[in-house]
Amino acid sequence: MATTAHCESCKFFDDHKSNTGSTQRAEGLCRYNPPVSQPGPDARGLWPVVGATDWCGHYTVEMTPAE
Ligand code: SF4
Repeated sequence: MATTAHCESCKFFDDHKSNTGSTQRAEGLCRYNPPVSQPGPDARGLWPVVGATDWCGHYTVEMTPAE
């Protein structure tokens, strides 16, 4: 799986997003799990930031609509 699995083609990858809402170049948020590490009682939790070429064992191919 390591040779073809990349976050950028995973259905859980929210591409070019960050926890601050700014646009990222080759990073995005992994939405496989709920956000973690809530910094404070009034702050939102943080989504894990991953690179487009990262991957993990939860990789799931993005389903593209049939044309
Ligand atoms: S870390 Fe895993 S589940 Fe998250 S986007 Fe990358 S391959 Fe998908």
